[in-house]
Order: sequence, then C-alpha cells, then structure tokens
Amino acid sequence: MLLKGKKGLIFGVANEHSLAWHIAKQVHAQGAEVILSVASERFLRKVGPLAERLGAPTPIICDVADDDAIAKAFAEIGQTMPKVDFLVHAIATAKREDLQGRFVDTSRDGFALAHDVSTYSFLALCRAAEPLLQKGASLLTLTYLGAIRAVPSYNVMGVAKASLESSVRYLANDFGPLGIRVNAISAGPVKTLSASVVKGFKDKVDIQQVAAPLRRNVTGEDVGKSGLFLLSDMASGVTGEILYVDCGYNIMADFITREV
Ligand code: NAD
Repeated sequence: MLLKGKKGLIFGVANEHSLAWHIAKQVHAQGAEVILSVASERFLRKVGPLAERLGAPTPIICDVADDDAIAKAFAEIGQTMPKVDFLVHAIATAKREDLQGRFVDTSRDGFALAHDVSTYSFLALCRAAEPLLQKGASLLTLTYLGAIRAVPSYNVMGVAKASLESSVRYLANDFGPLGIRVNAISAGPVKTLSASVVKGFKDKVDIQQVAAPLRRNVTGEDVGKSGLFLLSDMASGVTGEILYVDCGYNIMADFITREV
C-alpha cells in the first residue's frame, strides 16, 4: 500500500467523470484517507455518495474564489484532519464565450475570472493548507497542453494554465525547504464537465487518438494512476515538474500521421 496511513485533501470532484475523482479512487485504493471538497452545495447530491464510497466524510463546501470560504473550509478540515500529507487542486473555470472564437476578444472580466479560479486558487489553497502539511507532503494540480501551445478555442484557459505551470515552479521553490513537493499533471483530453465547454473538444479527442504515439486517448484512470505516483513516496525526488499524461501527444510536431 503506497499511501497507508496518509491523509489528503482533494478539491474539484464534480461527478464520477472528474479527474479529481479518478485520483481519489487511486489514492484510496492505496490506503489513503481523504476529504473531498466541492464548489457549492449543489454538488453534494452527486459527490456525497462518492465520498461515502471512499469512507470519507461529507465533502467540505469551498468556493475557491472566496478567501473567507477557504478560511472556513480549512478551519473545518483542521478539526477532522489536523495533519495532511497531500492536496489535489483539480479546479478550473472560464466564461463559456471565452472558450471559443478568438483569444484577442477575451474580456478583462473573463481574463481575471479564469486566472483567479484556475490559477490563484492553487496558491491560496497551498497557503491555507501549510499549517497542516507534514514533512514529505505532496501538492498537485492539473494543467493542459494549451499552456505551452496555441490550442484553438482553449484561449484564456491556456494563458491561465501557463501561469499555473509557472506557479508550480515558484511554489516548489517556496515549499522545497520544508520537504514538501509541488507538481502538476498535464493531462490529455478526457470528457468531463469542464472539458465539454471548450468548443471543438471532440475534435481534440479524435485527433489525439490517431496522432498520439500510443494511438489512443488518455483515460481518467491513466491520470489517476499518475496522480497516485506524484502523491506517493515513489516520487520523493520529483518537484516543480509538469508530468505529461497524454499518451505522448505533446512530443509530436504534426497532427498528420501515417500508419507504419
Ligand atoms: P470537472 O468539471 O470535473 O472539474 C472541475 C472542477 O472545478 C469542478 O469540480 C468544479 O466544481 C470546480 N470549480 C470550478 N470553479 C470553482 C470554484 N470557484 N470553487 C471551487 N471549485 C470550483 O473537470 P476536470 O476535467 O476533471 O477538471 C479538473 C482539472 O483538470 C481542471 O484544472 C482542468 O483544467 C484540468 N484538465 C482537464 C483536462 C480534461 O480534458 N478533462 C485536461 C487537462 C487538464
């Protein structure tokens, strides 16, 4: 059991398709105790029963755009889980109209929202968790190839992910002296609530299937297993990294492939 006796917080489960849920299942199977957190009360109907499947308490409600909500959530977490070995941040949002058309048309509000919820919230959660974090703890976030390539329609979210990836490096530098690691998984396209909002999402899935070296799409389980790796002691020497879990798609220079 890779995580026997370990305890962790998982932010961002919306339903059983969520990447956060796939990570939660993997860490639970390896002995970890978890607390899930959801954005608002309306998610409890779906996520409450999922938490029960892991023997976890009722999910904590936390809108990560609200500092008071974060403080309240961590006061509650501290009561039941005073020592934390890992934290997963699997949260992103942008205005629907900013995930189609031209990036240049992104509004000031839309730019701020995407960066606040998808990027700043990682810092905010890491800071709030710090008093509970144990030596050897691991902090993990989720990013996408749109951070380093211009992916049509991903637009402002790609720019927010670039900032998130840079934040991973700065956070790794902040937390490293405390023996705490910070990493990100750059996942290939997986059908989830958030992903389906990006215009042309299905095309990205179809392209990956033929263009990725493994000639298939990445699954939630692939992401969950790599999450387990980064959260466990198996990755004890890894920090500040962006780990691509995309069947190798990011290494390719071209969408066009020829069968050999
Ligand atoms: P998802 O919709 O299941 O998860 C996104 C989560 O963000 C939801 O649980 C939602 O409630 C939460 N959220 C949004 N605003 C919030 C707020 N203000 N406060 C608290 N929570 C809030 O989708 P997902 O695909 O599992 O997304 C998880 C992460 O993975 C995101 O960062 C996403 O960008 C990233 N990612 C997804 C893919 C993909 O193809 N699905 C690929 C690469 C990276």
